[in-house]
Amino acid sequence: MKAEIIAVGTELLMGQIANTNAQYISARLPLEGIGVYYHQVIGDNRARLREALQLASSRSSLVILTGGLGPTEDDLTREAVADFLGKPLILDPEVLAELEAFFTQRGRTMSENNRKQAMVIEGAMILKNPRGTAPGMYIEQNGTHFFLLPGPPTEMRPMYEEQVVPLIRSLHGQKKTIRSRILRMAGIGESMMEMKIADLIRKQSNPTIAPYASEGEVSLRITAQAETEDQAYRLIAPVEQELRNRLGTYIYGIDDETLPVAVGKLLRERKETVSVAESCTGGLLGAAITDIPGSSDYFTAGYLTYSNRAKREILYVSEDILNNYGAVSSECAKAMAEGCRKRSQSDWAIAITGIAGPGGGTPEKPVGLVYIAVSHKNETVVHEHHFRGDRAQIRMRSVKAALHAILQ
Ligand code: ATP
Ligand code: MG
Repeated sequence: MKAEIIAVGTELLMGQIANTNAQYISARLPLEGIGVYYHQVIGDNRARLREALQLASSRSSLVILTGGLGPTEDDLTREAVADFLGKPLILDPEVLAELEAFFTQRGRTMSENNRKQAMVIEGAMILKNPRGTAPGMYIEQNGTHFFLLPGPPTEMRPMYEEQVVPLIRSLHGQKKTIRSRILRMAGIGESMMEMKIADLIRKQSNPTIAPYASEGEVSLRITAQAETEDQAYRLIAPVEQELRNRLGTYIYGIDDETLPVAVGKLLRERKETVSVAESCTGGLLGAAITDIPGSSDYFTAGYLTYSNRAKREILYVSEDILNNYGAVSSECAKAMAEGCRKRSQSDWAIAITGIAGPGGGTPEKPVGLVYIAVSHKNETVVHEHHFRGDRAQIRMRSVKAALHAILQ
């Protein structure tokens, strides 16, 4: 079964919102053994939506639409689909009663517009929407299965999980499932990673290996198709092992275990704490660590020491170091980490000092030069990095490298 997603909404085309609905559904359909082959994004335009439906039904047997089910003039998905299928829209008394109840419960009066949402495509199955006003719909024609889902993710997601998934399971008899394992890496570039496993990528079939890079990290997704979940993971296991043999030192986590999650896990296991001292990242490292719920168990403090004076007074960096080596130096990073650990009484401290640019670089200390120090017990290790990119990228890469440094 080939699936296609049509997201409807001019705000998507204008870049005002990201198409997270397509992303969400695309990540989940493979769990049902269904591959997503196409995404379309269409504005609130009936003619173009009709073209999109034409194209989708010519190549996909499962077409999931999101958005455009609301009460306003520009919400035209149900009209366009009805029109395309050559079916009338009919008033569904049950949906109308539910709509009325929805408004009464909230002490609001229903506008005439909302009556439009009780109009359903003749022959369609109604998917209830207790979290909103627009019901979803399912209808099949000439072997193509259409799902119409509401745009707001808070309504679309539960409708997908609770009503679409069971229907899809009953639709396709074959019980194939698709499972993935993501290996997350830091400290290696995408091309270097691909070089190390080029032969494996070339001969892949089931499972498949897909490298991808995002936000200063690289990942590999291993995807297997099988009859059952267990079988899929059994296919994945030897491939994962082979990849680990070659890339093990860079792999810090799997699946949704991001760097801050991996750091939290490590500290929790060791019952240790961490503090951070930041200069050029301006608090981003502390923010990344504390983004994880429960991080108060292992995060003690963060010091945002931008000026030399702050480095001296808060982190006890000596006048000597600042004068002789400068704030962006291996010596300063080391002193910052050690001072940070001393002040916060944590088991670990991570310090970052560097030049994020665009100004401030010199031939000896160019933009992108960043020192990261990790202090633990009686040892402090300093890493020197030369990051490329603009200010935002350099800062983000510094944070990733700092988190990775503590895992090494
Ligand atoms: P409503 O009843 O709220 O009008 P609707 O089904 O008509 O729902 P839209 O009007 O298309 O849906 O979208 C409503 C909101 O849902 C959008 O403003 C946006 O916040 C969110 N939304 C719509 N489509 C998507 C999408 N593809 N990905 C993420 N969010 C979306
Ligand atoms: Mg709408």
